[in-house]
This record gives sequence, C-alpha cells and structure tokens, in this order.
Amino acid sequence: MSADQTTSNSGYLPRQQLRIRRWLMASSFYIVGVPFVWYGWKQGQMAPLASLLFVLLAVLGNGLLYWLFRSGRNNRYADPSLTTPQMLLAIVSTLIFTGGASATLRPTVSLGLLAPLIFGCFQLQQRQLIRLALFAIGGYGLMLLTVEISSGLHQPVVELVHWAGLSLMQGAFVAICGEITRMRDRQRQLAAQLQESADRDPLTGLYNRRWLARQVPPMLQLAQRHQRPYCACMLDIDHFKLINDQHGHLTGDSALQWVSAQIGNHLRKTDALIRAGGEEFLLLLPETDLHGAHELAERICQHLGSHPFAPAHQAPLAITVSIGVAALHPADTLDHLIARADNAMYAAKQQGRNRVVLAGSQA
Ligand code: GH3
Ligand code: MG
Ligand code: MG
Repeated sequence: MSADQTTSNSGYLPRQQLRIRRWLMASSFYIVGVPFVWYGWKQGQMAPLASLLFVLLAVLGNGLLYWLFRSGRNNRYADPSLTTPQMLLAIVSTLIFTGGASATLRPTVSLGLLAPLIFGCFQLQQRQLIRLALFAIGGYGLMLLTVEISSGLHQPVVELVHWAGLSLMQGAFVAICGEITRMRDRQRQLAAQLQESADRDPLTGLYNRRWLARQVPPMLQLAQRHQRPYCACMLDIDHFKLINDQHGHLTGDSALQWVSAQIGNHLRKTDALIRAGGEEFLLLLPETDLHGAHELAERICQHLGSHPFAPAHQAPLAITVSIGVAALHPADTLDHLIARADNAMYAAKQQGRNRVVLAGSQA
C-alpha cells in the first residue's frame, strides 16, 4: 500500500497534505506581494493596470490551485503536485509585477523570478527547470522591450546589465537545483534499495517474514472481499539437520539456495515464495483453489524427490520436503491460514515425510 492510499486522522491523504502545505508556502510569497504592490501603487511606484493584474492573477490563480487540491482533481494530472502550473503562475505574476514597477523598484522585484526555481527542485527534472528558467529570462527580456516601446526605459543599459546578471543567476540556480535533483533521485533510489533488501532473505533472495507481514494481509482481505480462492503451502525440508551434520553448514546453505530455486521454477509470477524460517518455505498462491494448490504441491514434492541436489565435488544428495496445504477461509487472518498450513505440514512429517497433506484432511 503506498502512502498515497493511506488516509490520515484528518481524512486527507498524507501526500495531498504535503502538496497543500507546499502550495501554502508558495502562497506566502503572494501574501507578501499583494500589500507590497498595493503600497507601491499608492506611492506611485507601481502602474495601476499591472497592480490590478497581479492581484487578480494571485487571487484567481491560487484560488484555482486550492480548489484543485481540495477537490482532489489535481490527481487527474501526470504531476499531481501541479509544480509546473504553480511555477508558471509565479513567473508570470512576477513578470507583471516587474513590468509595472518603476525603474527604481524593478531590480528588486525582478529577483522574485528566482524564487519559483527553488520550489521546482522538489519535483522537476533539470531539463524542465531549464525550460522554466528560459521562460522567465525570455519573459523578462520581452517585458523590458514592451516597456521600452510603450513608455521608454530610463536607463536601457543599466536594465540590460541587470537582465544579463539575473540570467546568470538563473543559470547558477538551475545548476544548483540540478545537483539537488540528482541527490533527490539518488536518495529515492537508495531508499527503494534499502526497502528491497530489508524485505529479502540474504541467503536465498526470497521474501522474508517482514515482507509477509507488510504485504500479504491486504491481499488476503482483497481475496476475501471478492470471494476469490487463495491458498498457502508450508514446505519443510526433511531431515535437514542431517545434511548439515554430514556435509557441513556450507553445503546446507547451498542446499537451501538450490531448493528455493527449484520451488521457484514451478511458480507463476503472481505466486509468492517466502523463507519462513531456517529450512521452511511458505508459498502463497492467489487465484488458486485447494485442488490447484494440491496439484502444485505434489509436483514440487515429486520433482525434489526425483532430482537429487548435486553440490560441487560431492556425491548427489537426496532432498525431500513435506508440504502442508491450506485454503483461505472467509474469516481467516494470515496467522490462521499459516497455522493450518503448518499443522498440515506437521501431519505430513508424522505420516512419514516426503508427502503432501491438505489441511482438514489429516486425522
Ligand atoms: P524434520 O524432517 O523433522 O524437519 O527434521 P529437520 O532436521 O529438517 O528439522 P530440525 O528442525 O531438527 O532441523 C533444522 C535444521 O536446519 C537445524 C538448523 O541448523 C538448520 N538450519 C536452519 N537455518 C539454516 C541455514 O540458514 N543454513 C544451514 N546450513 N542450516 C540451517
Ligand atoms: Mg525440516
Ligand atoms: Mg523446520
């Protein structure tokens, strides 16, 4: 189950809460910007039309974003964080702000074009950041040209130098953001690797009990809700202690690896094989009824019984397994299912080993 599917106490999805929190952080820039524009307009430092446009864009744009997040409609888009639209809104409103500002105010206001890039670092790839930076620099240049044509720039050379300086700063920001993006991707990759290795048994590479406890209960609930068949097989190697005692622990380890590979060869992609204990394996079979599970268990039992394990430089070793098979009942928990498969496996041991016993059929 991913974090997106988990509901928190407030009823909101945690990732959605994070998105709303980031949107709030971004909105604080507008909350500062609106009184700043109003004051600038009062002082004759801001053109009235640009002031009005900025306020309208800030209120309507952010209102729209908030509505998208609150209604969950943002999840319909490829990037539910809506990072690019938020950055575009910030860039366009800053350009309007800059365009309407007096020559004295403009250099200060134009620095606001750097802020959206910082937000982009959390979600976007460097290529997308470059495109947005070019949009900001291009837009700033276009805005200066528009001011020059309409009313004339007071100091065109100074404005041009400032534009060039801001372009360089944008370049440096994109480079730093690119580094952060790479670190972020690497950290995500490491977290995924860590999760994967924590879920696996190092000797056989099979899933372990940790994975079982985390992943399987929801799958069982799904099978029960939709009344789908689901079976479990508990496999235990017969007289494994003898292999260790007679051939050494290393051969025992190789035997465990070999047995797990042999069982794996009989499985479908949707089946799961777990190393449940020392020389015990749990096989989980979704969409499989007791009849199908019994057939598979017999096939594995016969295959192992007729194919000896051949360790390097040693005589082949006969390895057999005892298997207990149980079907999921409507009110079963994972523990109930495993306990019934386990009991059937012990019955197989008592009946002479190297055999399959179905839960409920044992005396
Ligand atoms: P039974 O047929 O009743 O299952 O007998 P058994 O000898 O297989 O069962 P028992 O529980 O007496 O012994 C299991 C042995 O498995 C004892 C333990 O040392 C060995 N074992 C457990 N984990 C490992 C492992 O990772 N590597 C090796 N080489 N041996 C292991
Ligand atoms: Mg055993
Ligand atoms: Mg055992």
